[in-house]
Amino acid sequence: MKNAVFFTSGKGNHYLYSPYRNQLKLCHPITVHLFSLEKKGINLSQWLATIKKQGNLSLENTGTFSYEEVRYQFKKYRFLKRNDFLKQTKDINIDGRLKVSDVKKNITSVKQIIFEVTEDCNLDCTYCTYSKFYINKERHDSYLTFENVRHTLSKLISKRIASPSNHLFISFYGGEPLKNFEFIEKVLEYTSTFPKEQISFTYSLSSNGLLLKKYIHFLAKHEFELSISLDGDEVANSFRVTRNNKPSFDIITRNLDYTRTQYPDYFANKISFLTVLHNRNSIKSVYAFFMEKYGKVPQMSDVNPINLNPEHEQEFRETLQSRSITPQEEKETIRKMETHHPKVRETAKVLEYYSGFVFKNYLEMISRKKGKNTSKKFIPTATCTPFSIRAYFSAHNTILPCEHISPFHEIGSYSDESLNLDPTGIATLYNRYYDKISRFCSKCYFVDNCQECIFNTGIETDHPSCSAYTREPGFREHLKKHYSSIEDEYSFYQKTTQSTLHEG
Ligand code: SF4
Ligand code: SF4
Repeated sequence: MKNAVFFTSGKGNHYLYSPYRNQLKLCHPITVHLFSLEKKGINLSQWLATIKKQGNLSLENTGTFSYEEVRYQFKKYRFLKRNDFLKQTKDINIDGRLKVSDVKKNITSVKQIIFEVTEDCNLDCTYCTYSKFYINKERHDSYLTFENVRHTLSKLISKRIASPSNHLFISFYGGEPLKNFEFIEKVLEYTSTFPKEQISFTYSLSSNGLLLKKYIHFLAKHEFELSISLDGDEVANSFRVTRNNKPSFDIITRNLDYTRTQYPDYFANKISFLTVLHNRNSIKSVYAFFMEKYGKVPQMSDVNPINLNPEHEQEFRETLQSRSITPQEEKETIRKMETHHPKVRETAKVLEYYSGFVFKNYLEMISRKKGKNTSKKFIPTATCTPFSIRAYFSAHNTILPCEHISPFHEIGSYSDESLNLDPTGIATLYNRYYDKISRFCSKCYFVDNCQECIFNTGIETDHPSCSAYTREPGFREHLKKHYSSIEDEYSFYQKTTQSTLHEG
């Protein structure tokens, strides 16, 4: 059950979020008071008669209101009640199941395949998931050969050719994928044998940039979408060291400068950056560095806090986790970055999900139903269904749902001669995981707008837990935080939400 949630912003304004209507409204303090009286079982008509006798109502920290004002707000309260604004929602039904037929269908239409070209890397970053800070991973420096993947690739391409969309994204991931350039070259030799009318390909590659100069001609020629990992200026990038503990910043930036000079259009259109935030950089410094040097905004993420090795967890938090900044600094950064700032995007999401005035399209606007979310079956969490978007082929011949998750979550395997996927086994595994997490999700206030992946919850263990699990008090704080930011910077948010929330 979800209750109506009242909260007070930093500026002292009162709001009501109605989960049943999925709408958020400014409300009068008397509305909040009436709601709390009713919760205590007080008869509101008798209470109003007492106020009439008294002549007014005094509310602590708020003010004194005349009987006429109270009576008017009382009528409004009744209106809200009659129109279900204060109604609890039934539990969201999260008994949805992954069907074997869905897995089969996804396999035939997988849009992106990602090869872990090699585990080997020419860097030894302090926060690498193979470092002492993480469990579950051991680097074997395995290399894929084209012979390893030929059978699998040919099967997946033929499925894609037979599907309505004859396009396939092929991504190369590592370690450092350019350390196994021969593999990449052979894959492209093979894919080039297919006529363009039959199937087309888009290639992408995530690299640390150390070997960029050597291979840039090939990458530019084949229009690879290239993501370069760089954490900012020399100090910011100092966790990214070579295998003999030397800084990598100069080599990478030299290679990038070379690329920009030789292939300016390619640099402008196809190269993006990935930045890890830690205690030697900040959103502000990273944004300033990339805008000034490359005129681009990198994709930023925090240093990965999943699967930490308990032995080194304290050291991880002290040396790697990003520093907090002052509210003033944050405000300045938000103003500069606008919709590139993660917090602005988060606030836009809150408006989209809870304000009740954002609609995907006109049809949704005229047909949105009250309490609609409780009437259909949801699959818990925001986990993508296997193969619906991508599949990750590891250098150990295992198949994983994606590149971001632990090798533990293998859902298939492949070899020189076979592609081994068991849709029934995969559906059973996912449904078992859904059952395990649903005891949290069923009580969580984010259940209908969840953004968590099940593989980040320790779902394989006996004690999974979700760091985003939120009950009513946490949800109230969440709404309060975002609505307070909007009130503080009203004209800024008015402008940015207009550019973030598009008309459908
Ligand atoms: S992290 Fe989870 S939701 Fe995201 S792509 Fe991977 S499996 Fe899917
Ligand atoms: S945030 Fe966590 S607990 Fe809440 S619905 Fe999503 S996965 Fe479940």
